Amino acid sequence: MSDCLFCRIVGGDLPSDKLFEDDLLFAFRDVQPMAPVHILIVPKEHIATLNDTTLDDQPLLGHMLMTARDLAADEGVGESGYRLALNCNQEGGQTVYHLHLHLLAGRQLTHLR
Ligand code: AMP
Repeated sequence: MSDCLFCRIVGGDLPSDKLFEDDLLFAFRDVQPMAPVHILIVPKEHIATLNDTTLDDQPLLGHMLMTARDLAADEGVGESGYRLALNCNQEGGQTVYHLHLHLLAGRQLTHLR
């Protein structure tokens, strides 16, 4: 998927502010942060949207959540609080069609916008 932005970031073809990487996941700071902490957690495998996941992806999805929790702790916002958001398709606000979880924190998050 050489035309996929996040595949290119995961592959190192495009730069990123990387925070975490393992066999399955890659996490980096969002280039247009909507909060003081704004991290994207993405699977290394190209999966376009949440709708494209299968039962086989259940461990991967759980791993994304627990990695987000650990990154929140690393960023010092585990106790103050954080939001995880996963946008799916156009009306869900998805703009990059490679599955990703947003980790937002560092300010009072009240409304979903
Ligand atoms: P979404 O709207 O849920 O698809 O989120 C895509 C996110 O990717 C947005 O918050 C963008 O700011 C972010 N983004 C786009 N290009 C880059 C990039 N090169 N590095 C880091 N984040 C990016």
